[in-house]
Amino acid sequence: MALTGIQILKMLPKKNCGECGIPTCLAFAMKVAAGQIEIGECPYVSDEAKETIGEASAPPIRTIKIGSGDSAFTAGGETCLFRHEKRFEHPTGFAVLISTDMAGDDVDGRINRFKSLRYERVGVLMKADLIAIKDAAGDQGAFTGLVQKVLDSAEDANLILISDSTDNLAAAVKLCGERKPLIYSADQADIDGLAGLAKDSACALAVKGDNLDNTIEITEKLTAAGLKDLAIDTGARTLRAALEDNVVARRAAINTKFKPLGFPTIMFPCEMTDDPLMEAMISSVLIAKYAGIIVLSDLQGDILFPLLLERLNIFTDPQRPMVVQEDIYSINGPDENSPVLITCNFSLTYFIVSGEIEGSNVPSWLLIKDTEGLSVLTAWAAGKFGADLIAQFIKKSGIEDKVKHRELIIPGYLATIKGELEEELPEWTITIGPREAGHLPAFLKEWKPA
Ligand code: SF4
Repeated sequence: MALTGIQILKMLPKKNCGECGIPTCLAFAMKVAAGQIEIGECPYVSDEAKETIGEASAPPIRTIKIGSGDSAFTAGGETCLFRHEKRFEHPTGFAVLISTDMAGDDVDGRINRFKSLRYERVGVLMKADLIAIKDAAGDQGAFTGLVQKVLDSAEDANLILISDSTDNLAAAVKLCGERKPLIYSADQADIDGLAGLAKDSACALAVKGDNLDNTIEITEKLTAAGLKDLAIDTGARTLRAALEDNVVARRAAINTKFKPLGFPTIMFPCEMTDDPLMEAMISSVLIAKYAGIIVLSDLQGDILFPLLLERLNIFTDPQRPMVVQEDIYSINGPDENSPVLITCNFSLTYFIVSGEIEGSNVPSWLLIKDTEGLSVLTAWAAGKFGADLIAQFIKKSGIEDKVKHRELIIPGYLATIKGELEEELPEWTITIGPREAGHLPAFLKEWKPA
């Protein structure tokens, strides 16, 4: 059962020293209870209290890590059923399947697409996360050879090792060393052997059941054996079954704290259909409904990009707008005669406006004012993008040292503050820019200092 902030406070040393980054033990305890900070951030808490609090405040879906270092992939850690209740924590991972029975060119193509299909959107790098390597014929040499090829050629790929042979998996895990792959899978055949391998190698282990009940049996056995980092595959190979299992597992873990299903899921749309478009549709449903990892048969830009975009939308924090830093941004190499534009720091606005300016090829200065992530009109209505605040920002930003002229282009939607802004900035001419970013290129090409 989750502990309250007051219960956690009783177990803290109550020094109120602030070394945890929070000014008081009470505030720290409240944050631990809300799952916003780890108990380990307090250097003075006893090991016993750490264990009690850590266990009680752990998320109902366990957090597991695959890989190591900066590019490690994290799944799970979820605490709610619906995004708007709080937020979804760790985005669904995309894996591409390669197999020992594929032709060399097919394998190379998939590895190359894994490395090259990368996109930047609102400042976030979007890409596939994992390569799933399948031992199709139980041939240890072929399997480890393929694993070595991926290790050598895709340095930031996190790995899923798929084999029915514990010995083959052990050989491949050894080869991976610190790359810490996900071992797939523990089914009824050799639970003890795989549990031992996962424990000895400190790798996460995927459970493969025939159905939900069977999956529960296996996770109970593995957790009784001391394993904690598990992923679950309920054996579902149709969209309906996969969706049902994911929803049942998430509800059981969150609503009733049912631990045997409190693990991220690994799903195989690649085994549910031969049609790439249907595979994409199945994947899109499973991103929205709780898949921890999705294994795809291939990566193609026209299918991967929309899936990445869906993932980005679902896994952003609905309570915190995405922002860019308040600053002066130079676009297309501006000089002292270049136009000066200003807008808010809502990242979508920034990327749309800066993209249009860039596309215009007109060297420009773009001032980004901190509006706490609110868009232009919302920020103005909330009192965060008024004439007084813009004037203060202009004076302290340093833009007056960068340009000879004194003309500021404001968003068309802020036309109403032109007069106020001229009073606040008597040295400056205020020009009303277009309402839509798409009209900026034509506007800038015509622009001359007033
Ligand atoms: S570091 Fe520990 S003792 Fe110090 S304020 Fe934080 S919780 Fe309290």
